[in-house]
Amino acid sequence: MLKIQNYINGEYCDPSEGKWLDNYNPGNGEVYAQIANSDASDVAKAYEAARNAFPSWSNTPIETRSRILLNVSELIEANLGRLAEAESKDNGKPLSLATKVDIPRASANFRFFANAITQFASEAHESVGLDSMNFTLRQPIGVVGCISPWNLPLYLFTWKVAPAIAAGNTVVAKPSEVTPLTAYLLGEILTEAGLPPGVLNIIHGEGPSAGQAIVEHPGIKAISFTGGTKTGEHLARTAAPMFKKLSLELGGKNPNLIFADCDYEEMLNITVRSSFANQGQICLCGSRIFVEETLYEKFKSDFVEKVSQLKVGHPSEDVNLGAVVSQPHMEKVLSYIKIGVEEGGKILCGGNRVKVQGYENGYYLEPTVIEVYDDQCRVNQEEIFGPVVTIMPFKDEADALSKANSVKYGLSSTLWTKDVDRIMRVSKRLEAGIVWVNTWLNRDLRTPFGGVKASGVGREGGFEALRFFTEPKNVCIKYNQNS
Ligand code: NAD
Repeated sequence: MLKIQNYINGEYCDPSEGKWLDNYNPGNGEVYAQIANSDASDVAKAYEAARNAFPSWSNTPIETRSRILLNVSELIEANLGRLAEAESKDNGKPLSLATKVDIPRASANFRFFANAITQFASEAHESVGLDSMNFTLRQPIGVVGCISPWNLPLYLFTWKVAPAIAAGNTVVAKPSEVTPLTAYLLGEILTEAGLPPGVLNIIHGEGPSAGQAIVEHPGIKAISFTGGTKTGEHLARTAAPMFKKLSLELGGKNPNLIFADCDYEEMLNITVRSSFANQGQICLCGSRIFVEETLYEKFKSDFVEKVSQLKVGHPSEDVNLGAVVSQPHMEKVLSYIKIGVEEGGKILCGGNRVKVQGYENGYYLEPTVIEVYDDQCRVNQEEIFGPVVTIMPFKDEADALSKANSVKYGLSSTLWTKDVDRIMRVSKRLEAGIVWVNTWLNRDLRTPFGGVKASGVGREGGFEALRFFTEPKNVCIKYNQNS
């Protein structure tokens, strides 16, 4: 059986204690690989490798670093088919999605930061009258930790490690133990691309052991984390007293505000996607749909009709939804559907597990739409992170904003209207790190990415990521005016 080993100092190796975890294929519910179940001693080994690699890597010319990152990007592209198949098998997402979105984006992340680092510059401030000049020296931090979730495995893993190494840091990184396969395969690519040993070390294993050991390691100076809000809270409690630099990209419960003056067909098609892409397991999915009351009944019937036509099936086939990521996650989503009904919500479509012929043990769920009558109900307040959305009407702009903002989260939001004044007013008042207007998941990698409230602290993307992964130091030089 395939063994998903750690990648330390440029080599694959077994976990020190020889412990392994089962890796499931969500499409058929079977174990198909063993994952290194690493602990603090593996993290210590990875840290040593990273620390030894730091002096040389941080002094490697930017052109050389950039060239190596471009090599990684090209090799990901060259391995598109193999990586997409691995991602789909490991995560349950449709192969078509992994082929069109996940793996191309992983390649784009390396390409983007290979280029961005060549354009990254710092500021200078002349203190006129004080005969002095300040400049900001931006230096890599040292050894940094990157921890990523299971929903967009290679996509989010590379979104962190690419800027970290581009900026001259060396890294101890951990992908989710639920979906470790593509990060494991990345090891071969890093070696082939010419990344020096120790620059990027990949540790596999569970959060409370391997992940926690990264966060607790005194030599690891910064942590970039993407995952659930509860885990983020715990991580902050561990890292804050050690004064580590922290970037936290956490959960969401994103509103989708639909006004009657929108481009209806475009809105309807994109809303189906923003609700159920990747089985609803994208932190940016619009899981709370609010519709202006004059449009509500029409939207409800058209939306439910379209959602009912979505095809759920084995990820390798031509389907709209594959499997959700794991059995516990499937059970969590089903339990929320039950809660929704107990709270008085009405299931307009879906609500059940699907038994796909030939893959009866796979984790398949119907795309589910729940009509709710109180925006404070649990299914409207808590992150479900599956193929479940709620819908309810709103009266006017003020009501829409109040409903949109009355959650603890603030990651992204979607707004559908043609009224420019409203676009400006509502965008300013939405409590979210990202507002999409008449579009969704429209990403330019230069833009700041992240959330407010319980959705996180800090921003990734573009120069924001390079700023996070460097420490600014002001150098003030006094000079003599008289020669
Ligand atoms: P999770 O918090 O359970 O795990 C995320 C990662 O943290 C995993 O690698 C896990 O092993 C690790 N981890 C767990 N406990 C840890 C600990 N004590 N110390 C260190 N590491 C630990 O999240 P998940 O279930 O993998 O992912 C789903 C969540 O991620 C959802 O809440 C989703 O909204 C969020 N997410 C957010 C974004 C964003 O950009 N804001 C993007 C994708 C997913």
